[in-house]
Amino acid sequence: MTAISGHHTLQNRYRFEGRLELTSPLRLSSGRASDVTDAPLMRDRAGVPYIPGSSLRGALRSEMERILAGLGKETTGVRACILFSEDSSPDACISVNRNKQEELLNQSEDKVLAYLDLHLCDLCRLFGSPAYASRLTLEDSVPVNPADHPKHANIRDGVGIDRDTGAARENIKFNYEVLEPEKGGTFFILRMQVENLAKGSPDSTLLRLALSLLEEGLFVGGKRAAGLGKIRLRKDSLKVRGFKDPKELWEALKTGGDPHRELPLEEVLNA
Ligand SMILES: [Zn+2]
Repeated sequence: MTAISGHHTLQNRYRFEGRLELTSPLRLSSGRASDVTDAPLMRDRAGVPYIPGSSLRGALRSEMERILAGLGKETTGVRACILFSEDSSPDACISVNRNKQEELLNQSEDKVLAYLDLHLCDLCRLFGSPAYASRLTLEDSVPVNPADHPKHANIRDGVGIDRDTGAARENIKFNYEVLEPEKGGTFFILRMQVENLAKGSPDSTLLRLALSLLEEGLFVGGKRAAGLGKIRLRKDSLKVRGFKDPKELWEALKTGGDPHRELPLEEVLNA
């Protein structure tokens, strides 16, 4: 078992940056109707559409959960729970086991980390859980060329949903805004940061899987089942900067240099 280094010490940090191509219309609604549509896109203050980091992270994690659960720990070597499920087995992750969550509350302060170390799955150690902050963070994805984006994208008519029954009702008028991919490509910037990758742990397996899934294509936002909101990482665009050792950070900070130097991707994945 690799000990949880958590957030108490900073051992290494890697910043991945690349381009995400939107390959199908994006419907990522802000949740507040505007005077133009019932479901406008998420936009920043300047009116530019963006993909919240939390949406990306959620899409990535749930896809990883599905794949890892389908294969099982024996095949992947990775312990992974399925968030929002309930697992009462003795080796269940604390994120999905109520008894362990209660036990955690009864631990003295100096025992909390050790308890989490025993009972968190590998996926939660990377992506975080209600009891443990994430070591993998994703920034909001903004367009590569913000100026190219119109104030309003396309408005589509949808089917209204009855709030009480959840059933579709055709007589409820409803429309939503989608961002259509442009001919020359619509690109967003991916910025992902990972801290404290533990040597010899499942971290590198999970990181590889995350990058492969981003390259393969993930669905974000609404109407995913209908194929909307597909984004793909362009592999040739991916760069990683960081430091592999806290001494590198210290030396850079002492001299006022940038501690995040460009690193070969394979070197980081094999760290
Ligand atoms: Zn878990």
